[in-house]
Amino acid sequence: MSYQLPTEEQTLAVESFRKFLQSEVKPVAREYRDRFIPKEKMRELTQRIAEFGLPGCTIPVEYGGMGWSFTTQGMLFEELVACSCDIALCVMLNMGLTSMLCNARPEVRERYMPDALAGKIFGSIGISEPDVGSNVAELKTRAVRDGDHFIVNGEKTWITNGVYSDVLICTVRGEKGLSHILIDRVEHGYESRNIDKIALGSQSTAQIFITDARVPAINLIGEEGEGLRNTMKVFENARAHVGTLSVGIMRTALEESIAYAKERKQFGKVIAAHQLIAAKIANMGIMVDAARLMCQRVFGLIDAGVRCDLQASMAKAFATEAAVQVCRDAVQLHGGNGITKEFNVERLLREAIIIPIPDGTTEIQQLIISRALTGVAAFT
Ligand SMILES: Cc1cc2nc3c(=O)[nH]c(=O)nc-3n(C[C@H](O)[C@H](O)[C@H](O)COP(=O)(O)OP(=O)(O)OC[C@H]3O[C@@H](n4cnc5c(N)ncnc54)[C@H](O)[C@@H]3O)c2cc1C
Repeated sequence: MSYQLPTEEQTLAVESFRKFLQSEVKPVAREYRDRFIPKEKMRELTQRIAEFGLPGCTIPVEYGGMGWSFTTQGMLFEELVACSCDIALCVMLNMGLTSMLCNARPEVRERYMPDALAGKIFGSIGISEPDVGSNVAELKTRAVRDGDHFIVNGEKTWITNGVYSDVLICTVRGEKGLSHILIDRVEHGYESRNIDKIALGSQSTAQIFITDARVPAINLIGEEGEGLRNTMKVFENARAHVGTLSVGIMRTALEESIAYAKERKQFGKVIAAHQLIAAKIANMGIMVDAARLMCQRVFGLIDAGVRCDLQASMAKAFATEAAVQVCRDAVQLHGGNGITKEFNVERLLREAIIIPIPDGTTEIQQLIISRALTGVAAFT
């Protein structure tokens, strides 16, 4: 693929979004640093952010979305992450909800899509379980057919937006294998409990408990038994977005490191003028750019209608591991100040450490990549 300059429309959309984020979202992110943002406050933010195109950017116009490209969505999403990874994660799951709703039955799509696009409701995607992480095919949550309903029982864990969620797109096991079904918290019922983490504590990662939820069969997303195939398709797109989470985190770490290196003086000159610091900053810049280009390649391939699981795994593995290294370098470059709460880089490092885990760990991406390159599966 050849490199394409952003269009004038893309540049304008990104610039106006950036200005809005700086004035309206950044202050809230600062205020709630490491503290949970209550649902109503988060909803105020997601509704304002929705006006700029997330989560509806790539949703077709006939379903109420903007019908823009994944490339544009990726650019907007990076701006949001650079402002707040917590809020971006929340919006990312709402992007997942709107894109899953495109495959829902028309009556279900028409009921939930408008509020989902407007940022009024929150969605979660429930795949992982206490005993099922990397090997999705083994999941145990059961959906038993009962006339024109399913009775769903099971436990999910690590579910982003879990405590906020109004609807859960749940991967379940039934007679025909794995399927996705939409469970409404109020109408069908499920419980959630937040998980305390080392970072990203301003948003929700939660356990979900589903007990005898009676869900209409029309709430199936896609066809019964196609859950595993659909999950793999979701991963392609999701992995490039998770990679972009890391791009946004390390871009901020780089920007803060550059500012600090031009300000802090040692041995009679700013530390940016010491060659080892200059090399560190150069390498950080290379990592940010390489990771961004790899994620943009995936978005470009999706826009072109080309399957790109390999490129998505490469982008996810590279970007998320690069961010850990870049943020660690950012802390080092800040010296003692780097480990204090007065500066942001310690928080960015804690965030960066988390991102290689969701949507397939680095090790799982390596297995996918090596299988594609060698034709030999090393999964067992
Ligand atoms: C912040 C966050 C948000 C998340 N959000 C969601 C969400 O919204 N919805 C959802 O369903 N899930 C979510 N997850 C769950 C995430 O997808 C899982 O944590 C991930 O798939 C890994 O599963 P696990 O934690 O059970 O680790 P395990 O699968 O138990 O793996 C443990 C370790 O063993 C390694 N490993 C496992 N199998 C192999 C192998 N075959 N070869 C080599 N190494 C291997 C792994 O790489 C890892 O290092 C989230 C996780 C996090 C941290």
